[in-house]
Amino acid sequence: MILIVDDKPENIFSLRSLLESKSFEVDTALSGEEALKKVLKMDYALIILDVQMPGMDGFEVAEILAGYSKTKEIPIIFLSAVNTDKKFITKGYASGGIDYITKPVDPDILMLKVKTFYRLYEQTLALNEVKRKLQLEVESRKKVQEELKVKVDFFHTVLEAIPQIAFTADSLGEITFVNENWFKYAKTAIDFPEIHDGDTSIDTFYKENIKSGEPFEAEVRIQNVDTKAYRFHLLRIIPVKEGGERNSWVGTFTDIEDQKQIENKKDEFLSIASHELKTPLTSIKAYIQLLERMIVSSGDEKVSTYIHRAQDQIIKLESLIADLLDISKIENGKLKVNCKPFDLESLIVNAIDTISHTHQHVDVRIEREGEPFVDEVNADAIRIEQVLINFLTNAIKYSPGAEKVLVKTERRDSHAYIAVQDFGIGIPKEKQDYVFSKFYRVEESSVKFQGLGIGLYICAEIVRQHKGTYGVNSESGEGTTFYFSIPLN
Ligand code: ADP
Repeated sequence: MILIVDDKPENIFSLRSLLESKSFEVDTALSGEEALKKVLKMDYALIILDVQMPGMDGFEVAEILAGYSKTKEIPIIFLSAVNTDKKFITKGYASGGIDYITKPVDPDILMLKVKTFYRLYEQTLALNEVKRKLQLEVESRKKVQEELKVKVDFFHTVLEAIPQIAFTADSLGEITFVNENWFKYAKTAIDFPEIHDGDTSIDTFYKENIKSGEPFEAEVRIQNVDTKAYRFHLLRIIPVKEGGERNSWVGTFTDIEDQKQIENKKDEFLSIASHELKTPLTSIKAYIQLLERMIVSSGDEKVSTYIHRAQDQIIKLESLIADLLDISKIENGKLKVNCKPFDLESLIVNAIDTISHTHQHVDVRIEREGEPFVDEVNADAIRIEQVLINFLTNAIKYSPGAEKVLVKTERRDSHAYIAVQDFGIGIPKEKQDYVFSKFYRVEESSVKFQGLGIGLYICAEIVRQHKGTYGVNSESGEGTTFYFSIPLN
């Protein structure tokens, strides 16, 4: 809107008509005082200001307007009867938007100046808006940066507080932060600790995980900078995703040297103990056999019963020692299978017979379902029988009072699939993943049923050696199915 300030209504009238004919909105004031009041209330794009007015004249009005931040930018066109000194006009009014026109007003010149100033006003407004938005943007970015810095500082403090060696890296794997512990094993903040030649190299992470975005985990020996000794650490590097995008990595090295040493000692002990137990047991077995022969000829039934019980216990002890020996073989990578073609069907029938025979004291039937296998398989018969016997023994052991156990067989693609299903206590869902782990026993049943928690671990290793698959399906309280499959040829 344009404000016309003139003490003569007839001047105002003609100017107003002229401007309104060109579609400008117009407001008017008949004195400098009235103009000042209006200017403070309303927003004007331009003021056409008569210089000679009774009371406050045009220059005084302009000087006052120049003093207010709200009004100092409004362009002014002075109307004066005489050619006024420009210097005087500009005094105290530095907006740049100032001009004058002498009376009588030439409508064309006035319109030219009005249009120029109006455009200037609009541009100034637009510019101010851009400036305001930019300022807001700068401020909000500053705030976000400050918040981010607080978060990063907090995160770094956490990484300093943990006992592990910790670091962060950008999306390309360039290290961006390391904690104090890092320097016990690395010379600089950008080089990785020295990893033992025999262990997984950090290059694997850079070659594979950086691209795939998968977490990286490896047990590696790293060299202490001062002592030069290598210690086992668990290295874990995990991608950090923001907004679904992976943009950095966080890594830790956890010292597991003591655990490793204890584990090694335990394996060593297991290996020695099982070997040492085997020799006297073999002698006991031989003596008992001798005794058995002597007793049979003497015909004392009571003694004969006790001898058979002792023999049963010897068989259990033998199988326990054999399992312990297998464990130490697995630890040393020495559990190897000796594959030869054999009749899988007879093996299954024999295993069922053996188990039925040795479990006559429990009322359980072992039933067979599915097609018999006709072809021979190329596998280690003794080891496959060991797996099946283990599954069957467990099926009977963990289903007290149940009437039957099912052995299901089936040819699946190029594999022989064998499953043992029982209707016993079952295994809780959340524990099923662990039953094939070494020494794992389901807590709820571990007191009631005896065992070491190694049978399934050995079975899993045997099946893996045959390049087969294995698993478990179970419902708590309803029963369990353990299955495995091995390639047919
Ligand atoms: P063990 O029977 O000597 O404890 P295993 O390695 O054979 O060791 O089995 C590991 C654990 O898995 C067992 O302790 C038991 O908790 C669970 N388990 C194995 N077979 C069954 C089954 N048929 N039903 C229920 N639980 C089972």
